Amino acid sequence: MTDVENLPETLTKIVATIGPASASEEMLERLIRAGARVFRINFSHGAPEEHAEWVRRIRAVGAKIGEPPAILGDLPGPKIRLNPVPGGSVELHTGGLVSVGRAPAPNGAAEDSVPWLSTTFPGLVDEVMPGNRLLIADGAVRTLVVDKTETSIRCTVTHGGVVSTGKGVNLPDTEVSLAPLTARDRRHVAWALAHEVDFLAMSFVRRAQDLRELRRLIEDEAERAGHPGLRVSIVAKIELPSAVRGIDEILDVTDAIMIARGDLGVEMDLAQVPVIQKDLISRAQHHGTPCIVATQMLESMIDAPAPTRAEASDVAGAILDRVDAVMLSGETAVGRFPDLAVTHMRRIAECTEAHLAETITVPSPPGRLQASGYHTAALAHGVLTVARDIRATWLVVWSQAGGGARYLSQNGFPIPILAVTSDVRAARQMQLLRGVTPLPMPAPVDIAAFIDHIDRYLRERGRAEVGDDIIVMAGEPLGEVGVTNRMEIRVIGSGE
Ligand code: PGA
Ligand code: MN
Repeated sequence: MTDVENLPETLTKIVATIGPASASEEMLERLIRAGARVFRINFSHGAPEEHAEWVRRIRAVGAKIGEPPAILGDLPGPKIRLNPVPGGSVELHTGGLVSVGRAPAPNGAAEDSVPWLSTTFPGLVDEVMPGNRLLIADGAVRTLVVDKTETSIRCTVTHGGVVSTGKGVNLPDTEVSLAPLTARDRRHVAWALAHEVDFLAMSFVRRAQDLRELRRLIEDEAERAGHPGLRVSIVAKIELPSAVRGIDEILDVTDAIMIARGDLGVEMDLAQVPVIQKDLISRAQHHGTPCIVATQMLESMIDAPAPTRAEASDVAGAILDRVDAVMLSGETAVGRFPDLAVTHMRRIAECTEAHLAETITVPSPPGRLQASGYHTAALAHGVLTVARDIRATWLVVWSQAGGGARYLSQNGFPIPILAVTSDVRAARQMQLLRGVTPLPMPAPVDIAAFIDHIDRYLRERGRAEVGDDIIVMAGEPLGEVGVTNRMEIRVIGSGE
């Protein structure tokens, strides 16, 4: 461990997508120092060898700084894309026609001078009906299906533009029968396990069953790789109308959700996205499930060194709703100012959280948590009342598998939580939890030794001062799961 003192600490977690703009060790270090705690690797772009190198660098930089960032692998799932377009791209004119075939055009040529496209999903031709919309390139080019034959559908272009190889295709009016996990996803899951990725996000989740299949696949691959029981947290990306409708069942199955506003804004009426976001956040909170708000949060920073006022307000709005994490995509993956984007996000979080700390009393625990009767959950709720009364500066919990940290986090309290475990993997998986700073360390002999250690740790890192009150939650033996049963108040510096 080296110079960790000045690492910024926000309650809201920042997820940064890695790409060519941010994959150097130097930039990764800057992103962590600016406040990023989770790195997303989008499996849609780049090769496995390149991703493996990114994972190695993230781990190396994390070890150097003494902060274990988590890695989130993002599975493309049943996303439909354009097959290679002859010549790379073609312009579709508003009012004109376009054919979308089961396969590339015979001899690659357009029939009747109508452009011919094909997609990664040949069955589209069977399942899309006249009257359905077919949108290309995040909805930039819009068409309406008017006719179909055995081998193709024909569409009128309602909003023209240039389309090119690999662009995404959205079918907001059609529920396609694509398998939730493609052969490519299966390879990515095996890869993710081999590289100890902490979270796997699933794109285009349609229903809870899709997530059960991913869970099963992870279990099978872990077994096959000789690590039965290896845990990978699942993040359900909510970007389809059917997922919005089935959100409560999805929340029963998933470990976290991502409000994937990019595709959501194409699949649904854009005007509805803000209220859908609010509703998804409150449902996730009721379930006690972590929630990430994603896409275009600081979009203009792909090219500019500062965000727009509207973007700053958007980030603050999500933080005021006490989401667990806010995410950067293109801003850090391909943008000109990746570290500045994280810095702006962090500074918005700092100001907004300071405001929240002044206005919030003890929130009630999520409904589902209250009904659970779990001892650790009830203890966590009690701890918050004590913390408020004594104005504690830290909640410290020995949280071997992450349960105690999660219960504390789910209460949305404005005091940071130091969550300690001897399980490095569990520590990384706590990086998505609002307010939680994970600290991996070998289990001390008993709680007294643990509290002495934490007292020193917080002082040495400048995270607490002599005389501060902190609260410690733990149980013995430290390092075992499910033994938390005690709470203790410690005055910093009083142990020596
Ligand atoms: P993507 O998902 O960046 O993988 O498309 C996020 C979104 O759709 O918002
Ligand atoms: Mn998406």
